[in-house]
Amino acid sequence: MRAIIIGIGQCGTKIADIFSLVDFEALAINTSRGDLEYLKHIPPDRRILIGESIVGGKGVNANPVLGREAMKRDLPMVMKKISSLVGFEDVDIFFLTFGFGGGTGAGGTPVLAEALKEEYPDSLVVAIGALPLKEEGIRPTINAAITIDKLSKIVDSIIAIDNNKLKESNEDISQAYERINYAIVERIASLLALIDVPGEQTLDASDLKFVLRAMGSFATVGYAKADATKIKSLSRLIIRSFENEGLYLDVNIESALYGLVAIHGPPEALKANEIFEALNELTQRIRGKQIFRGFYPDPREREVEVVTLLSGIYESKSIEEIVITAKKYAQEFLKAKEEGESKKKKLLSGLPDFDDIYP
Ligand code: GDP
Repeated sequence: MRAIIIGIGQCGTKIADIFSLVDFEALAINTSRGDLEYLKHIPPDRRILIGESIVGGKGVNANPVLGREAMKRDLPMVMKKISSLVGFEDVDIFFLTFGFGGGTGAGGTPVLAEALKEEYPDSLVVAIGALPLKEEGIRPTINAAITIDKLSKIVDSIIAIDNNKLKESNEDISQAYERINYAIVERIASLLALIDVPGEQTLDASDLKFVLRAMGSFATVGYAKADATKIKSLSRLIIRSFENEGLYLDVNIESALYGLVAIHGPPEALKANEIFEALNELTQRIRGKQIFRGFYPDPREREVEVVTLLSGIYESKSIEEIVITAKKYAQEFLKAKEEGESKKKKLLSGLPDFDDIYP
């Protein structure tokens, strides 16, 4: 299973940098030279500055129109870098990491996703994006809504991470982001680490690709972990990983088409009857009724870890709120603009030209 992580913009490159720390192949793309220099783990030759001719390496200041333009102008250079990293070995999935609310990531990610789909038709392109905090105001919400719309027509799945759900109320923002970024990487990495690994029942790359090839709908990763000696009910632990506190996005899990569950832990704790009980219940609960499963008994382990992926999700409160707020604002904004224009026209109509007054 080969995954390549491409971070776009500040949020995206910070997340990609952590993937690089845990040995994933990762690239960083940004319009800000300073932000690229700040990364710690992605080697310098895998950091790509775009849009220099437009913003001179200073970033796009959360303007997605500039972010899009920067990616478009330098796309040949970006694709060349990607192609030299890819080499002759197939890539199963490109994960694009970014923040939905900014400029470089929000504007540039759809442009890059489209180019990757065209250049690598057999690989999946999956977006992993952080949704803006409510207190950031209206612009990030609009950027997010429009980017969701664009990506949903291009990528295979969108794994959206709701910062609102993950940030603790008294936490400093930069600390919260750092913690959230590590959590995102940890979950995705623990899922990918179990793909193609021999187990009692093994999940392979084609299972994961099947689950993520979901027409640009949403996906989310759940998680639950417990000390093997303290587990009263394994089936409850599995179900918990699917339920809201285990997920990074507010979703109606019943609307999911596919699920994937990977369970890893000491052999004596992985009781088959409890696993089947939980998986049967979950299969009945999701709309698509298809759950892929992998069990990995590991005598060295003391904890049971459950990683779940739900995909083909069409109902999410986190997403609906963003889209509805953005739409409402856009309608009001466009109405205000139209009314202002017509007032201005009315006010200025009937004025003569200079020549009429000064013959
Ligand atoms: P860009 O560089 O122009 O793409 O802008 P950013 O990457 O800074 O994106 C800004 C959005 O991403 C904001 O709406 C933030 O909510 C979110 N964001 C910024 N940095 C981080 C981060 O490190 N982690 C997470 N989870 N979200 C972030």
